Amino acid sequence: IAGFTAVELQQVVDDAYTKYKDLDEGKNADYIPILTETPSNLFGVVIATCDGQLFTAGDIDYKFSIQSVSKPFTAALIMKQQGPEAVYEKVGVEPTGLPFNSKMALEIYDDRSVNPLVNAGAIASVSLVEASDEERRWAKVLQNLNDFSGTNLEVLDKVYKSEYDTSWSNRGIANLLYNYGRLYCDPEEALRVYTKQCSVGVSAKDLGIMGATLANGGVNPLTNKEVLPAEHVPELLAIMATAGFYDESGEWMYSAGLPAKTGVGGGIVAVVPGKFAIAAFSPRLNEAGNSIKAMKAIRQISGELGVGVYGAN
Ligand code: GLN
Repeated sequence: IAGFTAVELQQVVDDAYTKYKDLDEGKNADYIPILTETPSNLFGVVIATCDGQLFTAGDIDYKFSIQSVSKPFTAALIMKQQGPEAVYEKVGVEPTGLPFNSKMALEIYDDRSVNPLVNAGAIASVSLVEASDEERRWAKVLQNLNDFSGTNLEVLDKVYKSEYDTSWSNRGIANLLYNYGRLYCDPEEALRVYTKQCSVGVSAKDLGIMGATLANGGVNPLTNKEVLPAEHVPELLAIMATAGFYDESGEWMYSAGLPAKTGVGGGIVAVVPGKFAIAAFSPRLNEAGNSIKAMKAIRQISGELGVGVYGAN
């Protein structure tokens, strides 16, 4: 499989799991109150290959909120519907070098929303989805996530409520974008659909398949459905490589060499183009809002297999 045997792939997953299982640095996200309730010790590691095989260890079926790991997939939906120019012109593709919820980025960059992987650009992305009303907008966003995962995903209602009830920061971002003509539907509608998108429950396995769909040129390995035309996959991976870890994106690319996306629910998915995805989940985060164990596990696997996109590191 992709130049490796099944035994080798299972071995690196097991090694990474064992190595970091007992690490307890960092803490659950708490600005979304309910996320403090996720058991902090959960940890799962998955390799999902382009032909749909899974190599797993740990808590790989536990459903957690996808949070920002959803962002590249909705950017993919915009690319598919409207072409990559729409993302470039109406959202932006520049890394901010700033935290995911930065309001300063909105003021210092002319394109305001900056890129689809920070909150501003992700809220702008859902506002771009072509839909006649909020219900249809949401249905398209969810269908797209379902297509990437090959399953029927569901919103974790308690997460949605907890986040929407405390969404003052994202509401501020949505309103600022609207003020600058960089939001393309009603701000509160965009905020609700974005928050729902972030509250979708996924397992580490689901994230693995979502990433494997990108590794496989946009075709879901379980359903064989083309979710994103292959020609747009490189643009999407480029955004993930430059902005997937927010203000830690440089450090991540430097040390792991893989386009990836993190979320404050504790999930991360990294893509090895043409081969497989590596996904991991663990709730404890560092200061930048990235899962410490998931990050370490994926970096370790990338290094052991030597699959960094710029060469083995
Ligand atoms: N829904 C979260 C927020 O908007 C997503 C942030 C994240 O995962 N980094 O704050």
